[in-house]
Amino acid sequence: MIVTDYSIGILQYIPFFYVIWSDDLLSASEISVVQKVIELDTSLNVDEKHQLRRWLKRDTPPFDDEIKNWKQTIANSKVRLIESDTYPLSSLSQRLVNSENLNDHLKHIEVHLGIQPNHYNHLFDVEVVHEKTSSEYDANILDEILKGEHARVVDRFRSFLDKPDFSWQVLRNKEDFRNRILQQVQLLGEAGYGAMAYPPEYGGTGDMPAYAAIFEHLMFVDGSLAVKFGVQFGLFGGSIQKLGTKKHHDEYLTDAGTTKLLGCFAMTETGHGSNVRGIKTTATYEKSSDSIIIHTPGKNDNKEYIGNAIHSKIATVFAQLIVNGKNEGVHAILVPLRNENHEELEGVSVKDNGYKLGLNGVDNGKIWFNNVKVPRENLLNKYGEIQEDGTYASSIKNPNKRFFTMLGTLVGGRICVARGALGGSKMALSIAVKYALNRRQFNDNVKVQEDLIMDYPTHQLRLTPAIAGAYVYHFTLEEMMKRYSDYSQPDKRKIETQVAGLKSIITWFANETIQECREACGGKGYLLENRIADLKGDVDIFTTFEGDNTVLLQLAAKGILSDFRAEFNSAGFASVLKLLQTQLSDKLTAINPLYSNKVDAKHLYNPKFHRHAFDYRTRRLTYTLAMRIRNYIKKGIPSYQAFLKVQTHLLALGKAYSVELAYNIFCDHYQQIEDLKYRALLEKVGCLYALDQINKDAKWFLEQGYIGGTKSKAIRQRVERLSTELRPHIEVLVDGFGIPEHCLTAPITK
Ligand SMILES: Cc1cc2nc3c(=O)[nH]c(=O)nc-3n(C[C@H](O)[C@H](O)[C@H](O)COP(=O)(O)OP(=O)(O)OC[C@H]3O[C@@H](n4cnc5c(N)ncnc54)[C@H](O)[C@@H]3O)c2cc1C
Repeated sequence: MIVTDYSIGILQYIPFFYVIWSDDLLSASEISVVQKVIELDTSLNVDEKHQLRRWLKRDTPPFDDEIKNWKQTIANSKVRLIESDTYPLSSLSQRLVNSENLNDHLKHIEVHLGIQPNHYNHLFDVEVVHEKTSSEYDANILDEILKGEHARVVDRFRSFLDKPDFSWQVLRNKEDFRNRILQQVQLLGEAGYGAMAYPPEYGGTGDMPAYAAIFEHLMFVDGSLAVKFGVQFGLFGGSIQKLGTKKHHDEYLTDAGTTKLLGCFAMTETGHGSNVRGIKTTATYEKSSDSIIIHTPGKNDNKEYIGNAIHSKIATVFAQLIVNGKNEGVHAILVPLRNENHEELEGVSVKDNGYKLGLNGVDNGKIWFNNVKVPRENLLNKYGEIQEDGTYASSIKNPNKRFFTMLGTLVGGRICVARGALGGSKMALSIAVKYALNRRQFNDNVKVQEDLIMDYPTHQLRLTPAIAGAYVYHFTLEEMMKRYSDYSQPDKRKIETQVAGLKSIITWFANETIQECREACGGKGYLLENRIADLKGDVDIFTTFEGDNTVLLQLAAKGILSDFRAEFNSAGFASVLKLLQTQLSDKLTAINPLYSNKVDAKHLYNPKFHRHAFDYRTRRLTYTLAMRIRNYIKKGIPSYQAFLKVQTHLLALGKAYSVELAYNIFCDHYQQIEDLKYRALLEKVGCLYALDQINKDAKWFLEQGYIGGTKSKAIRQRVERLSTELRPHIEVLVDGFGIPEHCLTAPITK
């Protein structure tokens, strides 16, 4: 006979047992959590404990009738599950037994079992909750935290953008689109925003980090605006600032900053993109006329994809500098393209690249030079110059080092590209979340209204880890720009390595996120008016320009290998390997079976665990990579070929290193936040990012024995759980990005 009159002690556990047995996958760790609680719960007598323990046996599960009885008992009580309760299941139990207090033991089960309201609410009568978002956190405070020290500049800039000139429009004709974007760039230049990163004597404030912050905001207006702005002020103006000397600054920088002089940055050629060192354009010094002759020698040696090419008067042209018959390597030379009437100068030929997948407000073009003569002074001569006597001189003797030093000065642009992509993903996430908080689809008969799509666990899992990523990468890029702009640290090699990796993972992250957001908005996401379509087209190329991601990651990995050598005082390859091996075995001693299957929340949520996992991955990949290269070289394989053989390994290391770097920077930042409530929120956000990253690479961690199957499963569940736990705060989290209302124009956000 079925028992219907449960004691109070048993009754309070019934919702939990009902949930546990509705999911056939009762794991050993789940059983042990519940068992432990039952032992500790002093509100239970011996018989009750015995009964509850009996219901926990996997080999003799409760009969179906028993489970039906639990269901009936809960249904008859008329007590409903309130989703918005902090501990919905414990609160349900509390109300079931008419108790005034929550049983802490039950709370413990609820917190530690990884069961989520969205997984079990179909089992109960649910009280419909109309409230969409908790008011526990204030988006303005998050926004202030993100703005950091740029708050004043950013606030002013947001107001500046609040005018019809910057309203978003659908312009499918490229000429109209380009004209509008040009006007916007001119307005920004005239208002002093273009010159921000230049020194005060050229109209700026020398504040590169603030420049990066406003750059990101341009993505909220239009991707084409951000890119054309970046080309004019960052690439063209920046090349004069960083590669030129005072005479160039005095002559060009102020006008570049106000847009009185429009210019472009002509590096890439049709035949040579990623391999800049291989470009073919020549810049030959002619002593008799004291000038440099710029020439496109062959069919595919023209410049290509050059932004601002159609509107520019002048270009920074990268070419092989030949002085007295000797090739001194790639240098940058200012080459006028057009006269006052905007007619092409003799020997210059420019052709429109036409329509593109995105960024159609930017005028990209091809440029040919047919023996174009420019004065010797036009060589941007900070790192190498042609002296008055016609000889070449450089303070950096090694041509290889000179080339990388020149390119290294342009790393700020790469940080901005990542920042722009991040801005695109923040915009898409804000749109998708706001839509999901209004859009309802499906319900069961229990509910009066259909469910918000934001309440689906799948939706939470699609958007929340990406929001966490956006927060982590925001702080990462802020910090990288700060380090890059710190002139007291002139050696930027490490930062170059780091930025190469971060640019890659962040622009890829942005593309994946925008695609996910598009799908998360269903058909509405595909409509131009809702902005995600353009973000997709625009942000796509961020993975390629300013360095193709696959190529950059290899650069990053090579930098990491050299960094390790430096870390060990240039002790030589063999000693580096030895030291790495020792470090790894030190780490491995921590990884015993107990560690690799440790699944309690305290451990999984502890940043120390995340840092350990990331550090272990980076070091292990570095060690195995170094070993492989050494073995190839020992066999007599030339180093170029050896590196080719380990290309995929290089990529894995580049990514692993970048994720670790981003997470470490994020942790260092949120730990500085004084308001403990917000610090805790961001810790949770960081935890979600870290566990999501480990989960995405679970195969690797499992292969290495770093985590066991149980831990891998627990991590996956925790990612879901954290995504659900952050659900009440999701709108605040995206509002914290601070995208101004006048930019968030997508009708589906209203
Ligand atoms: C819209 C747009 C705007 C641009 N603006 C400018 C600008 O203003 N100024 C400018 O100078 N340039 C500009 N570029 C050019 C851009 O920087 C290049 O497209 C980029 O550097 C890649 O070169 P590529 O297109 O020749 O590709 P490639 O170098 O040919 O690469 C093609 C593919 O080959 C792969 N690949 C190449 N080398 C390797 C390798 N060693 N190992 C493994 N895989 C490899 C890459 O991963 C990539 O997938 C722009 C491009 C676009 C599309």
